[in-house]
Amino acid sequence: MNRPLAIVDAAARRFRCTGCGNCCKEVWINVTDADVRRLCDATGLSAAEVVQFPSVDAVEGTAEDDGWVAFGPDPKDVGLMTLRSNRATGACRFLVDDRCSVYEARPRACRLYPWDVERTPAGPKVRLDIFTECPHEEDGSLDVPSLLDEYELDEEERQAYEERIWEWEAEGAAEDPLEFLRFLGLPSRHSSLGPPPAAEEPASQGTAAKPQRSSVFRIFG
Ligand code: SF4
Ligand code: SF4
Repeated sequence: MNRPLAIVDAAARRFRCTGCGNCCKEVWINVTDADVRRLCDATGLSAAEVVQFPSVDAVEGTAEDDGWVAFGPDPKDVGLMTLRSNRATGACRFLVDDRCSVYEARPRACRLYPWDVERTPAGPKVRLDIFTECPHEEDGSLDVPSLLDEYELDEEERQAYEERIWEWEAEGAAEDPLEFLRFLGLPSRHSSLGPPPAAEEPASQGTAAKPQRSSVFRIFG
């Protein structure tokens, strides 16, 4: 694929993740229907076991961002489709012993973090956008073409998901998030883990500034 040369910040190029797992805690990972379908296929879980829908009050300062789904006629009744949290720890439910248990099927937002890609007239600009304590090393060697491929796939899937949200709202936006998952055609069977727990927001864990990217949000506390 021909694309303009990327402008890559030196720190972004040298970043190396040490796998501490901090960035899988204290955040909401906003996922698309494509992300959820891949996770359901990989784990055998139903969509309701994979995601939850935190409200505006639980997500730091993001009412203007894309991805909010209406549940009923009141403009305040919106939710963001995010990875489900472990109720006890507030971390992503797929974080096990500080490791991602679904690494091969993890959402695109997780694959892109902590790099941010901005489109500019001069070409894509890559920089770091770190917003958790991140004990990384600076001896890495970023695979820029792979990152840009991932970014473009994420953009395509987010655009398709946004279009589904518009269709949902045009059809009247029912109040039940399970209806929305059915509307998206996501798997509804339950795994051996049994029925999904009631959607509940985890304990607040931080109030750091909202990141620029609209796919990873801090928990509001
Ligand atoms: S899916 Fe994996 S990488 Fe993404 S937040 Fe959860 S544990 Fe972390
Ligand atoms: S916080 Fe930083 S070092 Fe730790 S897993 Fe996330 S990206 Fe890697």
